[in-house]
Amino acid sequence: MSIISKVAITGGTHGNELTGVHLLKHWRETPSEVTRKNFSTELHLTNPKANKANRRYLDQDLNRQFNIHDLNNSELTGYEHSRAKVINTLLGPKENPRVDFIIDLHTTTANMGMSLIFNTDDPLVVGMAFYVQDQMPGSTLFFDPVDRLEDTFLTSIARLNGFLIEVGAVPQGLLRADVYQATREATRHCLDYLELINQGISPVQPQVREGFRFIEKVKLPENEQGEITAMVHPNLQDQDYQPINPGDPLFMTLDGSTLIYEGDKVVYGAFINEAAYYDAHIGLSFMEKVQVNLKSDPVVG
Ligand SMILES: [Zn+2]
Repeated sequence: MSIISKVAITGGTHGNELTGVHLLKHWRETPSEVTRKNFSTELHLTNPKANKANRRYLDQDLNRQFNIHDLNNSELTGYEHSRAKVINTLLGPKENPRVDFIIDLHTTTANMGMSLIFNTDDPLVVGMAFYVQDQMPGSTLFFDPVDRLEDTFLTSIARLNGFLIEVGAVPQGLLRADVYQATREATRHCLDYLELINQGISPVQPQVREGFRFIEKVKLPENEQGEITAMVHPNLQDQDYQPINPGDPLFMTLDGSTLIYEGDKVVYGAFINEAAYYDAHIGLSFMEKVQVNLKSDPVVG
Protein backbone atom coordinates (compact mmCIF):
# COMPACT_ATOMS: atom_id res chain seq x y z
CA MET A 1 0.00 0.00 0.00
CA SER A 2 1.20 3.48 -0.79
CA ILE A 3 2.42 5.70 2.03
CA ILE A 4 1.03 8.72 0.18
CA SER A 5 -2.22 8.43 -1.74
CA LYS A 6 -3.57 12.00 -1.86
CA VAL A 7 -1.47 15.10 -2.56
CA ALA A 8 -2.78 18.66 -2.86
CA ILE A 9 -0.95 21.50 -4.60
CA THR A 10 -2.22 24.87 -3.40
CA GLY A 11 -1.58 28.34 -4.79
CA GLY A 12 -2.81 31.88 -4.35
CA THR A 13 -2.89 31.42 -0.57
CA HIS A 14 -1.54 34.96 -0.77
CA GLY A 15 -3.73 36.40 -3.51
CA ASN A 16 -1.11 38.62 -5.12
CA GLU A 17 1.52 35.88 -5.47
CA LEU A 18 0.73 35.00 -9.05
CA THR A 19 3.27 32.27 -9.79
CA GLY A 20 1.29 29.54 -8.01
CA VAL A 21 -2.00 30.85 -9.37
CA HIS A 22 -0.78 30.51 -12.95
CA LEU A 23 0.92 27.18 -12.39
CA LEU A 24 -2.45 25.86 -11.18
CA LYS A 25 -4.04 27.14 -14.41
CA HIS A 26 -1.34 25.39 -16.43
CA TRP A 27 -1.68 22.11 -14.55
CA ARG A 28 -5.46 22.13 -14.90
CA GLU A 29 -4.84 22.16 -18.66
CA THR A 30 -1.99 19.63 -18.44
CA PRO A 31 -2.69 17.42 -15.42
CA SER A 32 -0.20 14.76 -16.58
CA GLU A 33 2.62 17.06 -15.43
CA VAL A 34 1.59 16.70 -11.78
CA THR A 35 0.15 13.20 -11.94
CA ARG A 36 2.12 10.25 -10.63
CA LYS A 37 1.29 6.57 -10.78
CA ASN A 38 0.96 5.92 -7.06
CA PHE A 39 -0.96 8.93 -5.77
CA SER A 40 -3.61 11.40 -6.90
CA THR A 41 -2.93 15.14 -7.12
CA GLU A 42 -5.53 17.84 -6.44
CA LEU A 43 -5.15 21.50 -7.41
CA HIS A 44 -6.67 24.23 -5.23
CA LEU A 45 -6.72 28.01 -5.58
CA THR A 46 -7.05 28.76 -1.88
CA ASN A 47 -7.81 32.51 -1.67
CA PRO A 48 -9.83 33.34 -4.81
CA LYS A 49 -11.27 36.68 -3.63
CA ALA A 50 -7.86 38.03 -2.62
CA ASN A 51 -6.46 36.81 -5.93
CA LYS A 52 -9.23 38.58 -7.85
CA ALA A 53 -8.53 41.76 -5.87
CA ASN A 54 -4.75 41.31 -6.45
CA ARG A 55 -4.18 41.55 -2.72
CA ARG A 56 -2.33 39.34 -0.25
CA TYR A 57 -5.52 39.00 1.79
CA LEU A 58 -8.87 40.72 2.32
CA ASP A 59 -9.23 40.55 6.12
CA GLN A 60 -6.41 38.40 7.55
CA ASP A 61 -3.32 36.62 6.27
CA LEU A 62 -4.78 33.22 5.26
CA ASN A 63 -1.50 31.45 5.93
CA ARG A 64 -1.69 32.25 9.65
CA GLN A 65 -5.17 30.81 10.28
CA PHE A 66 -4.62 27.05 10.49
CA ASN A 67 -3.81 26.34 14.11
CA ILE A 68 -6.31 23.96 15.65
CA HIS A 69 -7.78 26.51 18.08
CA ASP A 70 -8.52 29.09 15.37
CA LEU A 71 -9.99 26.47 13.03
CA ASN A 72 -12.39 25.44 15.79
CA ASN A 73 -13.21 28.99 16.92
CA SER A 74 -16.62 29.92 15.50
CA GLU A 75 -16.19 33.56 16.55
CA LEU A 76 -13.53 34.13 13.87
CA THR A 77 -15.63 35.21 10.91
CA GLY A 78 -13.36 37.26 8.60
CA TYR A 79 -13.06 36.18 4.97
CA GLU A 80 -9.77 34.34 5.51
CA HIS A 81 -11.04 32.83 8.77
CA SER A 82 -13.91 31.40 6.73
CA ARG A 83 -11.60 30.29 3.92
CA ALA A 84 -9.37 28.47 6.42
CA LYS A 85 -12.40 26.56 7.74
CA VAL A 86 -13.54 25.69 4.21
CA ILE A 87 -10.04 24.50 3.24
CA ASN A 88 -9.82 22.52 6.47
CA THR A 89 -13.09 20.79 5.62
CA LEU A 90 -11.95 20.17 2.05
CA LEU A 91 -8.42 18.87 2.73
CA GLY A 92 -8.43 18.04 6.45
CA PRO A 93 -9.90 18.13 8.97
CA LYS A 94 -6.70 18.81 10.80
CA GLU A 95 -7.39 16.22 13.51
CA ASN A 96 -7.93 13.45 10.93
CA PRO A 97 -6.91 14.69 7.48
CA ARG A 98 -8.14 13.29 4.20
CA VAL A 99 -5.13 14.60 2.26
CA ASP A 100 -1.68 13.17 2.98
CA PHE A 101 0.58 15.98 1.83
CA ILE A 102 0.25 19.63 0.73
CA ILE A 103 2.67 21.60 -1.44
CA ASP A 104 1.85 25.31 -1.09
CA LEU A 105 3.32 27.72 -3.65
CA HIS A 106 4.51 31.17 -2.58
CA THR A 107 6.65 34.06 -3.79
CA THR A 108 8.54 36.75 -1.95
CA THR A 109 9.68 40.24 -2.88
CA ALA A 110 12.93 39.51 -1.01
CA ASN A 111 16.01 38.13 -2.73
CA MET A 112 15.62 34.67 -1.21
CA GLY A 113 16.07 32.60 -4.36
CA MET A 114 14.57 29.12 -4.05
CA SER A 115 13.67 28.70 -0.38
CA LEU A 116 12.31 25.36 0.82
CA ILE A 117 10.24 26.04 3.93
CA PHE A 118 9.22 23.20 6.23
CA ASN A 119 7.96 23.20 9.81
CA THR A 120 8.69 19.66 10.94
CA ASP A 121 11.66 17.39 11.48
CA ASP A 122 9.69 14.41 10.17
CA PRO A 123 12.08 12.37 7.97
CA LEU A 124 9.61 12.30 5.07
CA VAL A 125 9.51 16.11 4.91
CA VAL A 126 13.19 16.74 5.67
CA GLY A 127 14.03 14.11 3.06
CA MET A 128 11.96 16.02 0.51
CA ALA A 129 13.86 19.23 1.26
CA PHE A 130 17.19 17.43 0.87
CA TYR A 131 16.03 15.75 -2.35
CA VAL A 132 14.90 19.04 -3.93
CA GLN A 133 18.15 20.67 -2.83
CA ASP A 134 20.10 17.86 -4.52
CA GLN A 135 18.26 18.61 -7.78
CA MET A 136 18.45 22.41 -7.35
CA PRO A 137 21.77 23.04 -5.55
CA GLY A 138 21.25 26.79 -5.10
CA SER A 139 18.18 26.29 -2.92
CA THR A 140 18.08 27.11 0.80
CA LEU A 141 16.59 25.10 3.68
CA PHE A 142 14.30 27.26 5.83
CA PHE A 143 13.42 25.21 8.88
CA ASP A 144 11.02 26.28 11.63
CA PRO A 145 9.78 23.21 13.54
CA VAL A 146 6.44 23.56 15.33
CA ASP A 147 3.80 21.09 16.49
CA ARG A 148 1.51 20.25 13.55
CA LEU A 149 -1.73 21.05 15.41
CA GLU A 150 -0.35 24.39 16.62
CA ASP A 151 1.16 25.30 13.23
CA THR A 152 -0.66 28.22 11.56
CA PHE A 153 0.37 27.33 7.98
CA LEU A 154 -2.05 25.82 5.47
CA THR A 155 0.36 22.94 4.82
CA SER A 156 -0.08 21.75 8.42
CA ILE A 157 -3.60 20.41 7.84
CA ALA A 158 -2.27 17.46 5.78
CA ARG A 159 -1.74 14.11 7.50
CA LEU A 160 2.00 13.99 6.82
CA ASN A 161 2.36 17.78 6.89
CA GLY A 162 3.64 19.67 3.86
CA PHE A 163 6.10 21.94 2.24
CA LEU A 164 6.25 25.55 1.06
CA ILE A 165 8.08 26.50 -2.10
CA GLU A 166 8.94 30.20 -1.66
CA VAL A 167 10.69 31.90 -4.58
CA GLY A 168 11.96 35.44 -5.08
CA ALA A 169 12.66 38.11 -5.70
CA VAL A 170 9.49 38.95 -7.59
CA PRO A 171 7.14 41.89 -7.00
CA GLN A 172 3.60 41.28 -5.81
CA GLY A 173 1.05 40.93 -8.60
CA LEU A 174 3.71 40.05 -11.16
CA LEU A 175 4.77 36.99 -13.11
CA ARG A 176 8.45 36.40 -13.83
CA ALA A 177 9.32 33.55 -16.17
CA ASP A 178 12.43 32.50 -14.22
CA VAL A 179 10.51 32.36 -10.93
CA TYR A 180 7.63 30.51 -12.61
CA GLN A 181 9.95 27.91 -14.12
CA ALA A 182 11.92 27.43 -10.90
CA THR A 183 8.71 26.91 -8.92
CA ARG A 184 7.46 24.49 -11.55
CA GLU A 185 10.71 22.53 -11.41
CA ALA A 186 10.79 22.37 -7.60
CA THR A 187 7.19 21.11 -7.55
CA ARG A 188 8.10 18.41 -10.04
CA HIS A 189 10.95 17.26 -7.78
CA CYS A 190 8.62 17.19 -4.75
CA LEU A 191 6.18 14.96 -6.63
CA ASP A 192 8.97 12.73 -7.94
CA TYR A 193 10.24 12.36 -4.38
CA LEU A 194 6.83 11.32 -3.07
CA GLU A 195 6.54 8.80 -5.89
CA LEU A 196 9.95 7.32 -5.00
CA ILE A 197 8.88 7.08 -1.35
CA ASN A 198 5.71 5.25 -2.47
CA GLN A 199 7.90 2.80 -4.38
CA GLY A 200 9.89 2.09 -1.23
CA ILE A 201 12.95 3.93 -2.51
CA SER A 202 14.82 6.34 -0.21
CA PRO A 203 16.47 8.89 -2.51
CA VAL A 204 18.38 10.54 0.37
CA GLN A 205 20.28 8.97 3.26
CA PRO A 206 20.28 10.13 6.89
CA GLN A 207 22.66 13.08 7.16
CA VAL A 208 23.03 16.63 8.44
CA ARG A 209 22.87 19.78 6.29
CA GLU A 210 23.02 23.50 6.86
CA GLY A 211 19.78 25.42 7.09
CA PHE A 212 18.29 28.59 8.58
CA ARG A 213 15.88 28.80 11.47
CA PHE A 214 13.64 31.75 12.28
CA ILE A 215 14.55 33.79 15.40
CA GLU A 216 12.43 36.95 15.26
CA LYS A 217 10.90 39.63 13.10
CA VAL A 218 12.61 43.03 13.21
CA LYS A 219 10.47 46.15 13.01
CA LEU A 220 11.32 49.16 10.91
CA PRO A 221 12.04 52.20 13.11
CA GLU A 222 8.94 54.30 13.83
CA ASN A 223 8.24 57.75 15.28
CA GLU A 224 5.82 58.49 18.10
CA GLN A 225 2.93 58.57 15.64
CA GLY A 226 3.79 55.03 14.51
CA GLU A 227 5.06 56.15 11.11
CA ILE A 228 8.09 54.51 9.45
CA THR A 229 11.19 56.68 9.85
CA ALA A 230 13.80 54.49 8.14
CA MET A 231 14.19 51.86 5.44
CA VAL A 232 16.35 48.78 4.91
CA HIS A 233 19.95 49.94 4.56
CA PRO A 234 21.41 49.67 1.04
CA ASN A 235 24.20 47.41 2.36
CA LEU A 236 21.58 44.97 3.63
CA GLN A 237 19.18 45.12 0.67
CA ASP A 238 19.08 41.79 -1.24
CA GLN A 239 21.55 40.17 1.20
CA ASP A 240 19.19 37.41 2.34
CA TYR A 241 20.87 34.49 4.16
CA GLN A 242 24.10 36.49 4.52
CA PRO A 243 25.59 37.13 7.98
CA ILE A 244 24.70 40.31 9.88
CA ASN A 245 27.50 41.04 12.34
CA PRO A 246 27.27 43.24 15.44
CA GLY A 247 27.68 46.84 14.25
CA ASP A 248 26.59 46.15 10.65
CA PRO A 249 24.13 48.63 9.06
CA LEU A 250 20.45 47.62 9.32
CA PHE A 251 18.45 50.69 8.40
CA MET A 252 18.87 54.07 6.74
CA THR A 253 16.84 56.96 8.13
CA LEU A 254 14.99 59.41 5.88
CA ASP A 255 17.88 61.87 6.18
CA GLY A 256 20.36 59.16 5.11
CA SER A 257 22.04 58.26 8.37
CA THR A 258 22.78 54.66 9.30
CA LEU A 259 21.25 52.61 12.14
CA ILE A 260 23.31 49.58 13.08
CA TYR A 261 22.56 46.10 14.39
CA GLU A 262 23.13 46.38 18.14
CA GLY A 263 22.96 42.67 19.01
CA ASP A 264 26.04 40.80 20.17
CA LYS A 265 25.84 37.63 18.06
CA VAL A 266 25.91 37.01 14.33
CA VAL A 267 22.49 36.55 12.76
CA TYR A 268 21.30 36.05 9.18
CA GLY A 269 18.63 38.03 7.35
CA ALA A 270 15.61 36.67 5.50
CA PHE A 271 12.52 38.32 4.03
CA ILE A 272 14.68 41.45 3.85
CA ASN A 273 12.44 44.36 2.80
CA GLU A 274 9.52 42.01 2.09
CA ALA A 275 6.72 44.20 0.73
CA ALA A 276 4.05 41.98 2.30
CA TYR A 277 5.30 42.83 5.79
CA TYR A 278 5.00 46.62 5.44
CA ASP A 279 1.47 46.45 6.88
CA ALA A 280 3.09 45.48 10.18
CA HIS A 281 6.19 47.66 9.64
CA ILE A 282 8.45 44.59 9.59
CA GLY A 283 11.83 45.19 7.91
CA LEU A 284 13.28 41.69 7.95
CA SER A 285 13.53 38.44 9.87
CA PHE A 286 16.56 37.44 11.88
CA MET A 287 17.56 33.83 11.32
CA GLU A 288 20.16 31.55 12.87
CA LYS A 289 22.23 29.03 10.98
CA VAL A 290 21.32 25.52 12.11
CA GLN A 291 22.11 21.92 11.29
CA VAL A 292 19.08 20.20 9.79
CA ASN A 293 19.13 16.53 10.69
CA LEU A 294 17.57 13.79 8.58
CA LYS A 295 17.47 11.37 11.48
CA SER A 296 16.31 8.25 9.71
CA ASP A 297 15.51 6.77 6.36
CA PRO A 298 12.26 8.40 5.12
CA VAL A 299 10.93 5.04 3.95
CA VAL A 300 11.94 2.86 6.86
CA GLY A 301 11.14 5.69 9.29
ZN1 LIG B 1 3.10 33.88 0.34
